[in-house]
Amino acid sequence: MPQQPIPLVDLKRQYFSIKEEVDQAIQEVLNNTAFVGDQGNRFNAKFEEEFTNYLGVDHFIGCGNGTDSIEILLRAFGVGKGDEVLVPAMSWISSSSTITAVGATPVFVDIDPVYYTIDEDQIEKHITPNTKAIIPVHLYGNMANMEAIMAIADKHDLVVIEDCAQAHGAELKGKKAGTWGHASSFSFYPGKNLGAYGDAGGMATNNAEIATMCRTIQNHGQQGKHNHLIEGRNSKLDGIQAAILSVKLKYLDQWTDARIQAAQYYAQHLQTDNLTLPTVRPNSKHVFHLYVVQCNDRDGLMERLKEEQIFAGIHYPVSLPFLPAYAYKGHKLTDFPVSASFHPNILSLPLFPELTEEEVKRIADVVNAFVAEEAATA
Ligand SMILES: *Cc1c(COP(=O)(O)O)cnc(C)c1O
Repeated sequence: MPQQPIPLVDLKRQYFSIKEEVDQAIQEVLNNTAFVGDQGNRFNAKFEEEFTNYLGVDHFIGCGNGTDSIEILLRAFGVGKGDEVLVPAMSWISSSSTITAVGATPVFVDIDPVYYTIDEDQIEKHITPNTKAIIPVHLYGNMANMEAIMAIADKHDLVVIEDCAQAHGAELKGKKAGTWGHASSFSFYPGKNLGAYGDAGGMATNNAEIATMCRTIQNHGQQGKHNHLIEGRNSKLDGIQAAILSVKLKYLDQWTDARIQAAQYYAQHLQTDNLTLPTVRPNSKHVFHLYVVQCNDRDGLMERLKEEQIFAGIHYPVSLPFLPAYAYKGHKLTDFPVSASFHPNILSLPLFPELTEEEVKRIADVVNAFVAEEAATA
């Protein structure tokens, strides 16, 4: 019998598990024609309040996506021309493209070889008189070392904006991702741990002034209708996405637990002689947006999985400093040895809340067999 395919992420299983509630929420937005997030849209206000409470922050402002949210925050903090912003070398390009977008300069810092987040021990050597901010990324759902990062930021008077696009609900010492820095950015892109059914994002902070600035920037620079204090931009959370997110937020912790359980199954079933598994930072909750392993013949393993109808991914095939977009910086692989070592080795195995133990076993069997053969011929 042909095997059922196992995708990297299966959004359908999740949708059908909450279909009635989601469909009803969308219908309600249509009935109210509450389409975009101008002030007064009750679906937006409701989700913003719920996510504020979920995080335990004072302010959360929805916007169009998780790239805009970083850019809006940088602008709200006054980061611009002549400023440098530190960002990990391994991330999605939004973490750095937004720095350039506000006129500042991204400065890459290598990642930690164990936890895959920005290497806090290498931050200070990149600080110059022009350094204005740090954007730590909780990559794959693992917390960056926020205690160390905040201490460095305090010492050098830097702004810290957490990129939480992969870390909804992650915690360090019982304190959530998005509540450690001076502000934080979230993406609700469909494949994220809390995903809308289109693009969506938002900014969280305890700083009332920054919150007001974010709201002003994302809504055409207005404070009150037609009162354009500045030239802002248009980046709104739309009503349908907000209503869907309100439904899905109720399930987030349960889905996170299921992700953690799937990660535990992997840890139990995968052999570790010739395979490196993810390491959870001590005293933290890793929310496993992705389950990234390292293997010497990554391409061969990916191909073998594909033959077995198992679809893995690579996040990311090339780290930021080595993308064509940053060729102008002229970086060498030796500038970021850990990030560079990831290029040929990393593989994201399928992981999503609805993944069953049976599926994990099937995936682990294929991986283990491949790695054993590889070791035997080495
Ligand atoms: C997804 C992602 C973003 C961007 O979010 P969008 O909503 O797709 O714009 C930013 N940073 C990281 C680390 C991401 O994974």
